[in-house]
Amino acid sequence: MNGDIKSKNLSAREINKKIKKSGYDSGFSSVGILAIDDLKILNKLPQDYDDYLEANMYGDMTYLEKKLQYFHEPDKILPGVQSAIVVAMNYLNRETKQNWQKVELTKLENPENGYVSIYARGRDYHKVLKKNLKIFADKISSITGKFGHRACVDSVPIFEIELAVLGGIGWRGKNTLLLNKDQGSTFFLGVLLLDYPLETEKSSVEDHCGTCMACIDICPTKAFLGPYKLNATRCISYLTIEHKGVIPLKLRPLIGNRIYGCDDCQLICPWNKFAKVAQVADFDVRNGLDDARLVDLFSWTESEFRDRHSGSSILRIGYHQWLRNIAIALGNVASRKEKYNYRPERSKSETKRKALQLLRKRITDSSPLVSIHASWALSEYESRM
Ligand code: SF4
Ligand code: SF4
Repeated sequence: MNGDIKSKNLSAREINKKIKKSGYDSGFSSVGILAIDDLKILNKLPQDYDDYLEANMYGDMTYLEKKLQYFHEPDKILPGVQSAIVVAMNYLNRETKQNWQKVELTKLENPENGYVSIYARGRDYHKVLKKNLKIFADKISSITGKFGHRACVDSVPIFEIELAVLGGIGWRGKNTLLLNKDQGSTFFLGVLLLDYPLETEKSSVEDHCGTCMACIDICPTKAFLGPYKLNATRCISYLTIEHKGVIPLKLRPLIGNRIYGCDDCQLICPWNKFAKVAQVADFDVRNGLDDARLVDLFSWTESEFRDRHSGSSILRIGYHQWLRNIAIALGNVASRKEKYNYRPERSKSETKRKALQLLRKRITDSSPLVSIHASWALSEYESRM
């Protein structure tokens, strides 16, 4: 339903100003407003998107094909859509220290602990953003009157980053993520589609990557084909989260101790020294996932996995994929120890004994996915330790 009466004495600019303030009051750090006609005119496909799809560089992410279907027809997502509001929400947990990039990079050198991508250590962001977008929509209706809307948080095929660029929130960096000069890239994006007409706030943000190539150089799997071009099938975030099957043998050693996602191309980004901590408690670390021992995580039962990850996005990959990822990290322990000349304080023999015991148990796991990776990890472990 398209409202309103309440806003009739306000100019479009005043309405936008009030909406933006409501967005900030709802826990968002940036708010961009777009009229749907401008969006249709201005909207550009990500660079070489067709080539990307054709070359099959998206792996199992077939939902990306759906994005194309809706590209020029946002009406299919919300009938009668007239405007889009794109928002950003910071996710660094509230305890994050100033030198967090260095701290996180050091964790990659500790082969006995698993590295979980920072965004996934707390509550599932889909839930958090949806909840806050609902609060935001209610606040907007007190300005505009009632309207129809749809909150999109990954669940709907829409190009969030392109909308955020159009909405003036930032630029797409060479690492393909959205960057903002005051917030770096550690934020989630969400979109609210409305059947209420709003005017586009004309703003554009220049690309500030300059000659920097740090993200491309650091990538452990060489997943970038070049600036702004990612081959997702080599990306550790894709492999550990989206990819359901067996991880190619040649990529396993490159995954290191990353058991859910990868942050390297953000940790090295100079703009992330301006990253902000979350305004909400939802992203506080759960289950010690900022520094958990692999052997402890690998010993969880399926019901422990479900209980401990209740409300977390990690639950989505399922227990077997979780074990697959940890098995790979365990298989990499020996080679990582050599590489980083790692000297653990904890009793080496106790950890080794536990790892071997757990891996031996898992090579007969009823899930072939788990047994295949456990068996690889065991042979790596036994041959090098
Ligand atoms: S997330 Fe990791 S693996 Fe993926 S592109 Fe960035 S650095 Fe490479
Ligand atoms: S690391 Fe450098 S090139 Fe990569 S996104 Fe950040 S500023 Fe851009």
